[in-house]
Formats: sequence, structure tokens, C-alpha cells
Amino acid sequence: MPLPRITPKRQLVQSLLIAVALLLPFVTVSGNPFLRMDIAKMTLFLAGIPLRIDQFYLVLLVILLFVAVFLLVTAVLGRVWCGWLCPQTVFNDLVELCTRKFRTQNSQAIARPVEHIASLVIATLIAFNLFCWFMPPRQAGADLLDIPGHQLMLVTFLILTLFGYLNLILVKRSFCRSYCPYGRFQTALMDAGTLNISFLEESRDRCLRCNACVRTCPMAIDIREGFQVECIGCGRCIDACRGIMEKKPERTGLIDYRFGTVKGTGFRLGKTTVALLLMTLFLAAGLIWGVAGRNQNAFAVQRVATADSRLLPDGSQAQVWRAIIGNRSEAAQGYSIRLAGESPNGVELLGQIREIKVEANQHREVIFMIHVINKSRPPEKIVLQLMRGDQSAGSVSVSP
Ligand code: SF4
Ligand code: SF4
Repeated sequence: MPLPRITPKRQLVQSLLIAVALLLPFVTVSGNPFLRMDIAKMTLFLAGIPLRIDQFYLVLLVILLFVAVFLLVTAVLGRVWCGWLCPQTVFNDLVELCTRKFRTQNSQAIARPVEHIASLVIATLIAFNLFCWFMPPRQAGADLLDIPGHQLMLVTFLILTLFGYLNLILVKRSFCRSYCPYGRFQTALMDAGTLNISFLEESRDRCLRCNACVRTCPMAIDIREGFQVECIGCGRCIDACRGIMEKKPERTGLIDYRFGTVKGTGFRLGKTTVALLLMTLFLAAGLIWGVAGRNQNAFAVQRVATADSRLLPDGSQAQVWRAIIGNRSEAAQGYSIRLAGESPNGVELLGQIREIKVEANQHREVIFMIHVINKSRPPEKIVLQLMRGDQSAGSVSVSP
């Protein structure tokens, strides 16, 4: 019976990843996208929860949480991220899979054109998928087909496609070997229990020196020489060695995944991993707390600098102000603006201050006036209150 192989497991994980990347932009929760940075709405949708860009602290927390999770995965799984999950690897593996059948001696003539076609199709899908993380997929498709109305978008799409195609056809894995800074950075995150690809030193005397592990390596390295920063942890050398050694009486490969570098230590939480785990939990708790307690309304007021104050026939003065009202809830809301508490003597609000309807997850600007009736004794400060129905939704203090 053949020894178990790593490649089918890696391909299954990569297939799931591609399916998730292609389908997730179409997934909605209560009508909202599951995950999208919607540029038109300036809103990050996270698990269907809209976080407007003006709630910057929440968006920043999301970014920091992603970074922390990424670093934690690296500290635990090492460069397995590169060999199994990194898009550069996944799409290069996909092109290889598409062309493998033709890479026999008598099919070389068509292997190259097939590689070009596969790279172009994959690059086109990647470019379209990238748009779908920033706008609804249906709209992205419609806008790309509406060439006269969206020329810049089409040019961006073509540049992305060309970039992806050249990357798959020319750059390939040399990017991982020579240019990717993350590979070097990962070395700094290696912990006592980080998962590695290891040549099992305790079995070195059983090595047949057949070089099957070296021939199959996409990074052209010899894992028998020990840990190398170029190794992406793909596991191809494990399969190659198992293919050779399964015909021998011992029937065990000489290369395997191993947590840490010492045999039999198993998974351990090193200092770096613990620190990153605590940081991830801390950020996740902060994000949950921030989302649960976030203000559903935004209210800002400023004087319209370009409009002079108006002298009314009775000698009183009215200044023009602008209010920006944000509705971060999932339904349209009606707002009004009023003076907070006891109205100060001699001040009233005029203009568009009632029945201000703001659509869900939108902002609206309204112009109104602060009328100072007794201009010889204007109040130093007044407090403007935003009302949602009969509930206070925010307030600001201004000097009329
Ligand atoms: S040494 Fe093995 S795991 Fe590392 S890149 Fe080469 S084939 Fe992949
Ligand atoms: S494939 Fe296995 S037996 Fe052959 S050289 Fe590599 S480690 Fe040695």
C-alpha cells in the first residue's frame, strides 16, 4: 500500500481557498456583503456589519486584527503559509496543474500555448475578483461592459490582467525566492514550536541519495542541508521521498513536517506565539466591544464660510451653518436639529431643521441658520442637539 501523500491535501486546501475567494464577494448577510471594502459607500463590511470609514478606529482595529492573525499563523505554521495558501503559490500551482498533462515529451509543443492560455484566464479571473472586494460583483461586471462610461475602470482591469499574466508566465516562483520580503520576515517569527519541513536527521543513514526530493522542489533547494529560508513548506519533497522509500522494507519517508526542530517535541507554545495570541485576543475583544458600542449616528456642524451673515429687517442677524448627519443604521431614519435644553434667550434655528430623512448607511448635508435675535448680547455658546425621533442622537457646541 502506498504511503499517504501531502499533495492531494494541499490541492484540496487550495481548491477550497480559490472557491472561497471567488464566491465570498457574492455572500450577503441581511442584504449586506459578508466582506467588502465598498469604495462608493466608503464602508467596510465585516461579517455583514457596516463600518463606515469615519469610524476610523474600528477600521484600524480590523486591519490590526488581520495583521495579528497573519503573524500568529506564521508563528505556528511557519512557511506553510507560503507553500499552501499564498496567492502567488496557489495560482502558480493551478497553472502547473492545467499544463501537467501536456508536459510529456511528445506534448511539449502544445504545453507552452496551454500555459499562456491558462495564465491569461487565471489572470483575468483574479483581476475581476479584485474589483469584487471593492464593489458589488454585478456592478463590476456591468461597469466593465459599459466601456464608454467606465474607461478608467477598464484600463485598470486590463493593467491588472496584464500584470497577473506576466507574473504567472515570467516571474513565477522566482518572486518567492528572490523578492518576497515576507519570506525573510517570517524567519524572525520562527518560534520554538513553529512547523517546519525537516529532513529527519536521525534517519540520515537510510538516505539513498537518489535526489528525488531535490528534483521535485519548486525552489530548487536540498532540504537535506537543513532549514533554508527559501523553503516554502509545500511538502513536495515529502511525497517524492515517500514514493522512493515505500518500496523499501522500513516504508517510512525521511522528510516530514515537524513542530520545532527536535524530534518528538510536538506542538509547543513559544514566547512569540503566546505574545501574538494575546495580541490577537486583545484586538478581537476590542473590536467586538467597539462594534457593539458604536454610535449609530454622526453629527457635525460648521459655519458656511462663504456665506455672510444676513441682516434681517428687524435688525437681528442670521448666520448660515451646515450640518452633516450620518445614519450608520440598517434602516432609513428621520432626524431633526434643535437647541439643547432651555433655549437661550434671543436665539432660534431657522431653515431645514425638521424631517431630515437620511437613508441607511448614508450621510446627508443640510443648511440651516442660527438666528441671533438680540445681536447686542449674543450667547457665547449654544448646544445643538440632533434628535432621532424623540431620542437624542448627538450634540455639538458652537459659538453663534
Ligand atoms: S524543500 Fe520541500 S517543502 Fe521546501 S520548497 Fe522544496 S519541495 Fe517544498
Ligand atoms: S528522496 Fe529521500 S532518499 Fe532520496 S535523496 Fe531525498 S531524502 Fe534521500
